[in-house]
Amino acid sequence: MKKRTLIYEKSSPGRKGYTLPACRMSEDEILGSIPAEFHRETDAELPEVTEGEAMRHFVALSVKNHHIDKGFYPLGSCTMKYNPKLNDVAAAMPGFASHHPMAPCSTAPGNLQLMWELSALLAEISGLPSVSLQPVAGAQGEFAGLLVMRACHLKRGEKRDRIIIPDSAHGTNPASVTSIGFTSVQIESNEHGVVAPEAVAAVMDENVAGMMLTNPNTLGIFETHVKEIAEIVHARGGLMYMDGANLNANMGIFRPGDVGFDIMHFNLHKTFSTPHGGGGPGGGALGVTAELDRFQPLPVLEKDSEGKLFFNYDRPDSIGRLHSFYGNFANMVRAHAYIRTLGGEGLRRASEIAVLNANYLKTLIREDYEVPYDGPCMHEFVASGSRQKKLGVRTLDISKRLLDFGVHSPTNYFPLIVPEALMIEPTETESKETLDDFAEIMKQIAREAQENPELVTSAPHTTPVRRLDEVTAARTLDVCYKGDE
Ligand SMILES: *Cc1c(COP(=O)(O)O)cnc(C)c1O
Repeated sequence: MKKRTLIYEKSSPGRKGYTLPACRMSEDEILGSIPAEFHRETDAELPEVTEGEAMRHFVALSVKNHHIDKGFYPLGSCTMKYNPKLNDVAAAMPGFASHHPMAPCSTAPGNLQLMWELSALLAEISGLPSVSLQPVAGAQGEFAGLLVMRACHLKRGEKRDRIIIPDSAHGTNPASVTSIGFTSVQIESNEHGVVAPEAVAAVMDENVAGMMLTNPNTLGIFETHVKEIAEIVHARGGLMYMDGANLNANMGIFRPGDVGFDIMHFNLHKTFSTPHGGGGPGGGALGVTAELDRFQPLPVLEKDSEGKLFFNYDRPDSIGRLHSFYGNFANMVRAHAYIRTLGGEGLRRASEIAVLNANYLKTLIREDYEVPYDGPCMHEFVASGSRQKKLGVRTLDISKRLLDFGVHSPTNYFPLIVPEALMIEPTETESKETLDDFAEIMKQIAREAQENPELVTSAPHTTPVRRLDEVTAARTLDVCYKGDE
């Protein structure tokens, strides 16, 4: 028996944490109703524990891990903001949470109304009038958006298969391009960390289907030439895609649809308050121009002549269905609750504070860490551990040391154009005290790198487990509570 088993084993025969009502069928009747091949020969080996023990077990596990409800989580590009619990309460309301997805639409007019309203709210926020809520991740939104782009070109009778992507792009962009069978054409950002129109003009031709641009980009810098770039791309028949995963700096300030973007995805699980970080259900809503609406994934929520909402499957130009049912509905409820709670003014204020917090933190951090693109930033900025690396302390070590102070690591080694990158996004929900504390901790780690580098390179020292083999943990996932005996 492995040690792991001893840590996890709480079971004691006969203990129970539940009571079930008396069964109206006899054992023979039950067995008779199930095909023989599915009969068990031995009892399932389930842990036998009381409710209290089960509760303690899961709470103990939850505090061993890091999460946003426990501590600061400046994981750049992931927007790990505090998610108001009210939105979880709304998503758990029985009419939302218990409605069966196979039930006829006529039994859930309120749920359809919520989806209709959320689409309209996201359209207002983005300036793109048609919004599908179906994609369930940012990456799936990209995939869907590129399929829309392809469908549009094919409809025009053009076979284009290249997508321009800057070197600061999120890895999902080129991956999505490859997934639909297109090829990426990479261009370099300039010395200010933004894309210059000339760089786009140099590669734009009649084989290029469009361009994917993130704004603010992954350096946390606002792309200042979008209009010019969009003109270049449109003039030669291409379409503009905005990776809108990082919308947190834009709400109520910058609308992608107003400056020439034709397609974009939102990450409801970043900006719009769905808890994330463990790879749970996401929301990658897809916004497109009126012209591209005909290509949106099936089914499309529409109003009939009497104003009643229904799902339209009869759209011959659609790229088809991307997901079972209509996407992750609970995320839509949270996003709706979040947007309606804050209102337009509140969303704008959230973005303003997100930007203010990032700039404030950057001025504190740059005393001890290099910040290669040091102009004003948006919701995040990218520092570099290159100064510390010369002392034998890598960015990974700095991030592991942060765990000893109860802080999650920033995003490491991304974007690729910054060596030893530490991508830091504080979000609007953190107080000045939290930001000051974090800057103090970063200062202390910089000092340790000089005086006692071994302390940093051997961190973490206080966590339940030390440095893990993350690749093996992800590739050979073992979720059985008994481990392998
Ligand atoms: C998070 C993110 C994505 C991908 O979103 P997923 O939901 O993780 O698939 C894409 N682009 C950018 C810029 C992101 O930050």
